[in-house]
Amino acid sequence: MIYADFHIHTRHSPDASIEPRTIVEQLNTHPYIKVAAVTDHNTVKGALETQTSAAAYTDILIIPGAEIQTVEGEIILLGIRELPLKPWTMKNVMAFAQKHNALTIAPHPYRGFGLRDIIEYYQIDAVETLNGVSTPEANRLAEDLAKATGLPAVAGSDAHEPKELWSMFNQIEASLNQESIFTAVKKGLTKPMLASKSIHF
Ligand SMILES: [Zn+2]
Repeated sequence: MIYADFHIHTRHSPDASIEPRTIVEQLNTHPYIKVAAVTDHNTVKGALETQTSAAAYTDILIIPGAEIQTVEGEIILLGIRELPLKPWTMKNVMAFAQKHNALTIAPHPYRGFGLRDIIEYYQIDAVETLNGVSTPEANRLAEDLAKATGLPAVAGSDAHEPKELWSMFNQIEASLNQESIFTAVKKGLTKPMLASKSIHF
């Protein structure tokens, strides 16, 4: 069993302040969360920098990704080291994801730039039903959407500042490597979880 936060921004996002090194340091000292997907807005720079910082640690895993603003709404791609070519339409970005074996997640579908129920028209792998900065109502609607579409549910803190890290995360029946994690998510072997307020990091 592994524990992973699938939605984190670094200072490479215009609206975030987290240093890539901070993510690695916190994963290293965290009692059980050892996997982080770095998903900056429209860039993989933060993800690649975090991966470099983590290279010396064998018990933590950084999954490189990005949260891409398409014409239709935002989509997270995990397991990418470069961005698709523009124009960023859902059709183009999903074709790129397929070609690169990326895992696709619809983040906060009921917030601004959320994809809402248009996800039905694309082969998205999972729906983010627990987002650390969405309202409980928006998360509940996302959960209903996951149920209605039969798609696996995942969580992400959507941290933009260090104190927001790990607020929501996934328990996954997988081993500590990207392929195992992606396979488990697609099979629905993921349980979105909420950090208890009694847990201090
Ligand atoms: Zn985000």
